[in-house]
Amino acid sequence: MILILLGPPGAGKGTQARRLTDERSLPQLSTGDMLRAEIAGGGALGRQAAAVMETGRLMPDEIVAGIISKRIAAEDCVGGFILDGFPRTAAQAEALDALLAAKGLALDGVLLLEVDEEALVERISGRAICRNCGEGYHDRFKPPAESGRCDKCGARDFERRPDDNADTVRERLRVYRGQTEPILPYYEARGLLRRVDGMAEIGDVARQIDVALGGAAGNRPSDG
Ligand code: AMP
Repeated sequence: MILILLGPPGAGKGTQARRLTDERSLPQLSTGDMLRAEIAGGGALGRQAAAVMETGRLMPDEIVAGIISKRIAAEDCVGGFILDGFPRTAAQAEALDALLAAKGLALDGVLLLEVDEEALVERISGRAICRNCGEGYHDRFKPPAESGRCDKCGARDFERRPDDNADTVRERLRVYRGQTEPILPYYEARGLLRRVDGMAEIGDVARQIDVALGGAAGNRPSDG
């Protein structure tokens, strides 16, 4: 199954992608995470990504399309994958179609997490990530069961993304409206777009996604 998760920053794409990954054994392909890995690696691409991310703007289409092209060629993508944060522009959507067509693959669905923009800044400013395993948390909506300790790996080292500040978030929202929203009709016209209420509680959003995907539950009982 090949899925795209779409929605503005803070809509919950990463949270839902990780859940789908756990339940359906499909790798999560997050261009944001891949770029943050480049930043951590300290190379030229990482330096470029750090500078772009700080502004809230987008990396050049050919760079992210190149990263995705390499990633989907990996062994673990043979059974499908979940795209989180890609495509974000019309050119990226077209590049993805070309990449998939070249492999004889097709998209199964595009899940759009719809959210109230007013709520996004609050959502984003409370976010934290486990520095060890990357699990996402939120001060209010998804705190760890034991304060300061990751539920998934037990590490006690959390970080906040440098681009999760109010100014950058406003720019990321502007970029989403200007460059990413215009690709929705592209998928809608092909009958691929499924709209999900991203304002619902995390477990409800997951259930809506399962319904949108044809009611197929994961291969693990729901924990919600
Ligand atoms: P994310 O983690 O998806 O919110 O992405 C964080 C930042 O990485 C974005 O604000 C962009 O600067 C960059 N980025 C991630 N994915 C893409 C993409 N598909 N195209 C261009 N830039 C991207």
